[in-house]
Amino acid sequence: MRRKLAETLYSQPASLIAGSAAGVACAGAAMSVAESRLVDLAAGLLILTALLRVAVATWLSHRAGQRDARSIETIYEIGAFSYGLMVGALAATTLYVGAPAYAQVLTVAYAFAFGVGIAARNAGRPAVAIGQLLLATVPTAAWGLAAGGAGYALAAASVLIVFSVVSSTFDFFRTLREQIIVADTSALMAEKMRELARTDVVTELLNRDGLNEEAHRLLMQLPDERKLALFWLDLERFKEINDTLGHQAGDQVLAEAAKRIRRAAPGDAAISRFGGDEFIVVASVADRGEAEHLAQALDTEIAAPTRVAGRRIEICASMGVALLPDDGPDLDSLMQAADLALYHAKVGRREAACFFDRAMTRHLVRKKEIETDLRAAIQRDELSIFFQPIVDLETGRIRTFEALVRWFHPEKGELRPDEFIPVAEETGVIITLGNWITAQAARACARWPEDVTLAVNLSPVQIRAPGAALGILAALRDAQLDPRRLELEVTESLFIDDDAHTARFIEELAAAGVRFALDDFGTGYSSLGYINKFPFTKIKVDRSFVSGPNTGKNSDAIIRAVAEMGTTLGMDIVAEGLETLEQVQAVRDAGCTLGQGYYFSRAVPDYLAAMLLSQERRGCEAERLVAG
Ligand code: C2E
Ligand code: CA
Ligand code: CA
Repeated sequence: MRRKLAETLYSQPASLIAGSAAGVACAGAAMSVAESRLVDLAAGLLILTALLRVAVATWLSHRAGQRDARSIETIYEIGAFSYGLMVGALAATTLYVGAPAYAQVLTVAYAFAFGVGIAARNAGRPAVAIGQLLLATVPTAAWGLAAGGAGYALAAASVLIVFSVVSSTFDFFRTLREQIIVADTSALMAEKMRELARTDVVTELLNRDGLNEEAHRLLMQLPDERKLALFWLDLERFKEINDTLGHQAGDQVLAEAAKRIRRAAPGDAAISRFGGDEFIVVASVADRGEAEHLAQALDTEIAAPTRVAGRRIEICASMGVALLPDDGPDLDSLMQAADLALYHAKVGRREAACFFDRAMTRHLVRKKEIETDLRAAIQRDELSIFFQPIVDLETGRIRTFEALVRWFHPEKGELRPDEFIPVAEETGVIITLGNWITAQAARACARWPEDVTLAVNLSPVQIRAPGAALGILAALRDAQLDPRRLELEVTESLFIDDDAHTARFIEELAAAGVRFALDDFGTGYSSLGYINKFPFTKIKVDRSFVSGPNTGKNSDAIIRAVAEMGTTLGMDIVAEGLETLEQVQAVRDAGCTLGQGYYFSRAVPDYLAAMLLSQERRGCEAERLVAG
């Protein structure tokens, strides 16, 4: 405030120059008519002071911002007081030496005009204003008192003028001060609003806008030899926490994660919550090694268990990391690279942090290709449905065929569903594709014996699409297939996201007679709650428990436990991925009722599926004949 008031002293150098020019003119006129050494001296000093002040003021008006308020004031005060004194002294001198009347009138009038004018102009610093007023007018009043007679009137008039000007100067000063306070408060408010607009309320970290600003600031200040590292973190299973423990607990988890990220990140890093459960940290690092350390530190800090809503919770984060300039020349490409790395971290799940590399872009390009090709493939008849039998482990008979999609690409050869189904899911193509698969498979199944059922895989994206249940019922109607012969395979991932809609979908179809199987059991979240909640008739134990490198005592115990649960709840338990006779015997002994795998058959085209069935029937017929 002091600085602003002091600045008003120099805000209009033009008025100072005009005032000084008037003073110089007065002094010159007085000199030329008074013919008095004393007047010459006073006038000469006035002219000199005036010129010096103008010079200093012009110089300072360009540099006022660089100096402190106190020194601006001091410089101004010295000039102002000496000039005021000169003006007062010249007026008193012309009176004292008895100069010609018009010289007296001119200098006295100038002294009073100067005093009054300057008091208004300098009201921002009342002490300076009133000091100048007094210096300019008191000598005249003093001469009046000393001279007596009519001089008394002059003295009295001077006192009254000074009195009224002083009081209005103070009024003016108060108004000015209030205005400055108001302006300052609104500037403070504006700053606060700006701060709020860039802050995330839940975590008090930066939001998107704030991050954008801060990241640009870091980039501008980045020394040539350093790099900018961008860490994109995504909390795992956050949605699950939010859904099961409530939003308040969710917010608590976010705030806790934010606190930890802040603790692990360097002091000048830009840290933001980038919507939902994603966080971004941008920091300057010396090299890739330092970025790796930082990623490690962030991961360790976040992974420590915490208590939320009375429960012990382990927050985990996937992380994508990219460096500037290595992975991109600007912030946009840095974000893209980190996003891609994050995607890989989530899919891979091997290590928490994944650094960007060029191969990821190639992967992305392939994904894009698949996306475009896939849309055309449906029209061009490149897709077909294969069927893999699910066999009763007691009788060895085929109970169900699982429909598995196959894509024979004219250039890329056979593409695995694991490769293109995720792309179809991400892009939404799965909805069209899924409807097509259901319709085709239902048509094939309608040609099989009544007791053979059809299993179709359903992705969560398909289920969430509007009218999903109606679409499936329509496909069944078109194929004239009894809904009770259709079994939809869904995975556990379906139940973390959207409960109400999923429940409605399942209820609607279950009411029509469609059955549900829980696919890939044991690989996902394996919360047993939903097995009770939804009408599953079948659980498919994932093939990683049956064959492959990680099977053994533990997986055997798991299969046993699941099979026991199945018996209790009256569900079929399917062992997937059976490749050898030993595996078949083992899962049967463990209590599984059904089996699927290369041991029985690979997935085959529909005509081969039909052939398998008729062979089996013929075999049975022969057995019956022999037995009979
Ligand atoms: P899934 O539902 O678990 O299907 C079983 C997968 O295991 C099939 O792979 C099948 O060929 C394979 N498999 C069967 N027996 C054995 C065995 O003994 N050993 C080994 N190592 N593998 C065996 P596929 O056809 O490549 O499908 C992979 C996944 O793609 C499926 O896993 C399913 O999640 C998805 N998928 C396939 N077709 C469709 C579809 O029509 N719609 C949807 N939404 N997803 C599909
Ligand atoms: Ca399946
Ligand atoms: Ca499966």
